[in-house]
Amino acid sequence: MDTAQPVSVDTLDPKQFIIIKGAKVNNLKGIDVAIPRNKLVVVTGLSGSGKSSLAFDTLFAEGQRMYVESLSSYARQFLGRMEKPEVEYIKGVSPAIAIEQKVNTRNPRSTVGTTTEIYDYLKLLYARVGKTYSPVSGELVTRDTVTSVVDFIFSQEEGTRLMVLCPLIKHQERSLSEELTVLLQKGFTRIKVNDEVLFIEEVLEDELDESAEYRILIDRASVQPDDEDLQFRIADSVQTAFFEGEGICEIEIVTRESNELHRFSDKFERDGIVFEEPSVNLFTFNNPYGACRTCEGFGKVLGIDEDLVVPDKSVSVYEGAIAPWRSHSMKKWVEPLLKNGIRFDFPIHRPYVDLTEGQKELLWTGNQYFKGLNAFFKHLESKTHKIQYRVMLSRYRGRTTCPECKGTRLRKDAAYVKINGTSITELVLLPIPRLISFIQ
Ligand SMILES: [Zn+2]
Repeated sequence: MDTAQPVSVDTLDPKQFIIIKGAKVNNLKGIDVAIPRNKLVVVTGLSGSGKSSLAFDTLFAEGQRMYVESLSSYARQFLGRMEKPEVEYIKGVSPAIAIEQKVNTRNPRSTVGTTTEIYDYLKLLYARVGKTYSPVSGELVTRDTVTSVVDFIFSQEEGTRLMVLCPLIKHQERSLSEELTVLLQKGFTRIKVNDEVLFIEEVLEDELDESAEYRILIDRASVQPDDEDLQFRIADSVQTAFFEGEGICEIEIVTRESNELHRFSDKFERDGIVFEEPSVNLFTFNNPYGACRTCEGFGKVLGIDEDLVVPDKSVSVYEGAIAPWRSHSMKKWVEPLLKNGIRFDFPIHRPYVDLTEGQKELLWTGNQYFKGLNAFFKHLESKTHKIQYRVMLSRYRGRTTCPECKGTRLRKDAAYVKINGTSITELVLLPIPRLISFIQ
């Protein structure tokens, strides 16, 4: 140290070194340091010599400040301003995130994503930009509004004749005639019975057909694109339809041939399922609303542990890879597989580790020739009144990845919300390099 010629840090290349000049944080006496980049560097020294002032309060503080600076001004407003550390300059440092190596006892559901707050941005992104798709049809789930219905109406050709309708909602405590009488009291005059528009008073005079389809006629109009008063009136009528129809408004376009009925719903639904609208809470697994119902947001459940069922993955099924099926009394479970494996190309002599994912899966699900491990364990569970089955079952139980959320901790329907076809649950399971290309 005393013989080396002092080199000014000003002359060093920030591509090769992280350069700190004139650090004065806490007890540091305006020191200059050059740390080689992309190397594992240990800061060591006497207690109180300023190691953490240099590493955390100076170097990391600057890296974190740069990380925050890299975020949008929108995101920054939630984070507060970060002061520059007391230093002349720092060059060559990248935006940084620090993670302490300790188990966070405050919330056992914490992950690297939540601790670094990166997951907060993902939640915000999905809550704002995510689109919900029905798992049944794969179609986009949308909610119709008065505005979207009015827009639909006024996108029709000038002069198009149409009716604003809604289904007649039958309330349990009222008969059909009482229902119609209430409509009259509310000021409605016409009703559509199947394909016929009739006066409610007329309908009430005759015997009522309980099996017919009843719709309340709320308004009739002929589309005049520039008529503002008409637009206001139609908007009012659509609002009434949504109210009387308990969320359903129907627009019937009247044509000479056959009328077309267009149905609008102000509920966030599709395929008969009402969906949760994307919100930050929907993607928050450490609260009861967003947490997976099966594992309560832990990502793990007490289940059958594959590692305990197949303790030695270098042996084949024939050699007894499946531990619970080795014993004499349980051999009958594996025998059909050994005998029939050839029928469905199952390589009984291949080490377990070399089986394909599909073949491993088959061991659990079984097929028409043999019952799989799922059926086997279900059988054990049905016999737990017998001590030997209870003991056997407990031998293979362990904390396993939750089958419902695949360890992502989120409630199932959070995965219906997607950005570019990818759900937040798929995103958090991605390896980092693929995650980067998705974000880019
Ligand atoms: Zn779960």
